[in-house]
Amino acid sequence: MGGLYRNFVKHIVYPLETMRIGSSARRHLAELEVSQFLSPERIRQLQIERLRRLLIHAYEHCPFYTERFDQHNFNPRKLQAIEDIQSLPITTKKDIQENKERMRAVNFPDEMLEPNKTGGSTGAPLYFYHDKERIFSREASTFRHNRWAGWDIGMKTAHLWGHRGDISGMKGIKAGLRNFLLERRLILDTSSITRDSLVQFKKELRKFRPDIYIAYANSVFLFARFLKETGSRDHHRPRAVITSAEVLESSQRAVIEDVFECPVFDRYGSRETSIIASECEKHTGLHICAETLLLEFIKEGRAAGPGEVGKTLITDLLNFGMPFIRYQNEDTGSTVAERCSCGRGLPLMKISGGRVTDFLMTPEGKLISGAALTIYLIANAPGVAQAQLIQENINEVTFRIVKGEMFGAATLQFFEREIPKFFGPRVKYSIEYVENIPQENSGKYRFSISKVDPREMF
Ligand SMILES: [Zn+2]
Repeated sequence: MGGLYRNFVKHIVYPLETMRIGSSARRHLAELEVSQFLSPERIRQLQIERLRRLLIHAYEHCPFYTERFDQHNFNPRKLQAIEDIQSLPITTKKDIQENKERMRAVNFPDEMLEPNKTGGSTGAPLYFYHDKERIFSREASTFRHNRWAGWDIGMKTAHLWGHRGDISGMKGIKAGLRNFLLERRLILDTSSITRDSLVQFKKELRKFRPDIYIAYANSVFLFARFLKETGSRDHHRPRAVITSAEVLESSQRAVIEDVFECPVFDRYGSRETSIIASECEKHTGLHICAETLLLEFIKEGRAAGPGEVGKTLITDLLNFGMPFIRYQNEDTGSTVAERCSCGRGLPLMKISGGRVTDFLMTPEGKLISGAALTIYLIANAPGVAQAQLIQENINEVTFRIVKGEMFGAATLQFFEREIPKFFGPRVKYSIEYVENIPQENSGKYRFSISKVDPREMF
């Protein structure tokens, strides 16, 4: 029955739905399924062609890049090799925060663009746009990489993720029907967790029996640890767990694999650029989604060699509505020289930095997900350039804030109103203003730090 319905969704419901909404995701997916097995040289050739097209477009239609390229005497039509873009400056978060409208392509009207935002891996909020076509190709990238973990269209997934409303995207009967027929997702909101909600997760998963879990790394780890420490035996086991949104430590992976008796597929993604890289069934590193993104690793102003850790720069080859060119997302990683034995020509990388978050706890015994706070609290606060949350004890949280240009009374009012919604009425918070929040030497950025052990809740 399950397999029959899966085929019905894959071959009938999904194609009809993509036609109805005019989505090109199926075409993109078909292309990506083929191109992943091209040779590394062919993939690089494809990247050069797409890069040239993007740069010419950005030069002709985005005032920010027109000015930048002119200042650096950069002629995109003369681009011969990928390395040629090294003569262009890096695009920082600050550049985007200050020039968002000038980075937009003038030939893309409002109705062709979707606004989006992120709390980022360093707790520095960012607002940006994707063009409609990019949204379809992003969906295709996600599908391809989910398929590496054994998922396919029509299968059921459980999401241990931030807010429910954020994931379902749409509300109402139509969305409910779409989810029932097509997406078949169970959303388990991990933005705030109590002991009861972990018990509830277990119950819902047993009933829904999803094929794959897609999860904030720290949320699924907490859930796995809860099952382990409470001696659970009768919990549901999926085929695979995909972890994302924060750093997955190898000790966490071991617990998740042990409890759910299935492999973990780690993923590196971001809202700005969709899936950046993810593990295939060989787990030898993360395959870069190289047909859609160009990654560079930069050390002391030059390209880092294989295995050498550098700052990550990303060029999104397909977002013409608002090009991201050499965008420094504040993560660090390195390229892996070896080819993967899976046969895919997509280059491998390792991530060495990234976001580390702790759960924060309220006196009522609720755990608040750090990863969820970056997007649902900090990214919505006006005028916050960067933030870090520290919990010394169960009654107090310190917000370390780097002020942005728009910081003011409205920011403080926002905190006064919103913080109790996340932390409840009893948590005291204080704000400490700082000049910057440095990364650790490892390249990791700790967004939330708690000295309270979340296991107190079990
Ligand atoms: Zn592989």
